[in-house]
Amino acid sequence: MRLETATWVEVERRLSAGNAVALLPVGAQEQHGPHLALATDTIMATGLAERLADQLDALLLPTLPYGETWTTAGWKGTISISFNTLVALTTDIGAALAAHKVAALIIVNGHFGNSAPLEQAARALITQHNLPTMILNYPGIEQAAAAVCESTPAAPGFYHADEVETSVVLALRPDAVQMDQAQPEYPQFPPTFGATPTRLDTFNRSGVFGDPRPATAAKGEQLLTLLTVSALSVIRAFLAEHIR
Ligand SMILES: [Zn+2]
Repeated sequence: MRLETATWVEVERRLSAGNAVALLPVGAQEQHGPHLALATDTIMATGLAERLADQLDALLLPTLPYGETWTTAGWKGTISISFNTLVALTTDIGAALAAHKVAALIIVNGHFGNSAPLEQAARALITQHNLPTMILNYPGIEQAAAAVCESTPAAPGFYHADEVETSVVLALRPDAVQMDQAQPEYPQFPPTFGATPTRLDTFNRSGVFGDPRPATAAKGEQLLTLLTVSALSVIRAFLAEHIR
C-alpha cells in the first residue's frame, strides 16, 4: 500500500490486523558526477523500497528526498540537511506511525551519510515510542556488486556514481542518466580518510568514484533483485523477533 495515494479509510483497515509494517525510504539531494542525477540516492532507495513493500504487503511512506550530505556539499546542487534535522524528521515520522499502532518501521537508507542520524532516530523510536525500528543500508551490496559488476570499486564497499549506482538508476529511471557524460575517476584517498571528517571534493574532481562506463540497465535489474533478496532475509529475521 502506497501511503501517498491511499485514503485514511484504507489505512485504518490495513492497521486493524495489528501487524502492519511501514517502510520509509530516505534519499539525498547530492552530486553524483557529471552523468547521474542529483536525486540518485532518492531514486535508488525508492526503487528498492517499492519492491520490498510489494513483497511484504507493507505500508510504503513517501520518500524523504533530502539527507545529511556534508561530505559532498562542495559540489553545486548538493543540498544537505543537518544531522539533527534528519534525526528530528525521522523521529517525528516514526512517532506518528507508533501513535497509529504500526507494528514496526523499516527505514530503507539510500545514502551513507544518513546512517548515523538514522541510527540515533531508531534508538529514540525504540526506547521512547516502543516502535521496533530497523535500518537497511543496502545489506549484501558488496556481494551483489562483485557478482554483477565488471569494474573495481574506488575503495572497498564504496559505491558512488560508479557502475553500481549508474546501473541501478539506468534500470529505474533512464531519464536520470547521461551515459555520454560518464567518465571514470579513481581518486587517491588521503591516509586520514575515515579518521577525520573529510569533504570528498578535497581529493576528487568529478564526483565519480570508480568507473560508471560499463553500467547497463540489465545489470541494474540484477543488482536490484539481489539487494531485494538480501534485504528480505534481514527483514524476515527482524519481523520474527518483533511481530507475532
Ligand atoms: Zn549515491
